[in-house]
Amino acid sequence: MFVNIVNISKSYKTEGRFFRKSKRKVIDDITFSIKKGECLGLIGESGSGKSTLSRIILGLEKPEQGKVMMEGEPISKWMKNKKGGASVVFQDYTSSVNPSFTIRDIIAEPLLAVGDNKNLDERINELLAIVGLPHAAVHKYPHELSGGQLQRVCIARAIAIKPKFIVLDEAISSLDVSVQAQILELLHQLKEEMEITYLFVAHDLQAAANLCDRILFLYKGKIVEEADSANLALAQHEYAKKLLGSVMPFQGQ
Ligand code: ADP
Ligand code: MG
Repeated sequence: MFVNIVNISKSYKTEGRFFRKSKRKVIDDITFSIKKGECLGLIGESGSGKSTLSRIILGLEKPEQGKVMMEGEPISKWMKNKKGGASVVFQDYTSSVNPSFTIRDIIAEPLLAVGDNKNLDERINELLAIVGLPHAAVHKYPHELSGGQLQRVCIARAIAIKPKFIVLDEAISSLDVSVQAQILELLHQLKEEMEITYLFVAHDLQAAANLCDRILFLYKGKIVEEADSANLALAQHEYAKKLLGSVMPFQGQ
């Protein structure tokens, strides 16, 4: 599973002064690739365009210019042929699940959507075990779980269809640091066991540097730096250096 993002641009209309309509470029000519089995980090401050770019990569939104290719095929075609080939976990886990569904139904949903209901309950139990939740969770409703537990449910739902590619858009950003560490460990395990290709989107570098092989720095809609996680200290761009300063205070003197 490899992804090529080629010359992607996107603008949104904004209400200018005196209600004059203007356009603002949110994604500005972005090109990069994600290799098979790679975990690529996409780091940028709030409003830098991370979610817009993620939606475009998943084919949920059309770019103004450029194209997204999955395994050499345009995203729209790839998605049609490979139902369940890609999935996404969002930051806002409370609004990404239906509050009137039980945990069982939440995890079953994507499987049923692709018409896969063989040994359903057995597989749901397996998925719960993988993400470290007790079997008893199947009968619970979202409001009965903690944030960390619910985010695990979202991850279970995302991996249920055995996707080749997962986008995690700030998936752990609103969790406590200790829960973040647990979920990172889980994502790390899944990556090893299931050969998933990841795009890990975050506004802080710490978690991404832990999990990812390579990091892209997004600043005002442009990729301003690219670095291997092992060589982050070599980053040159001001914005990347600023972020690095907060993570690695003892380096780069
Ligand atoms: P990030 O995820 O990095 O915080 P977003 O991609 O959500 O950034 O947003 C980038 C910019 O695009 C922001 O200024 C945001 O207000 C604007 N934006 C995002 N989605 C829309 C939309 N559907 N309509 C208009 N503006 C949008
Ligand atoms: Mg976002």
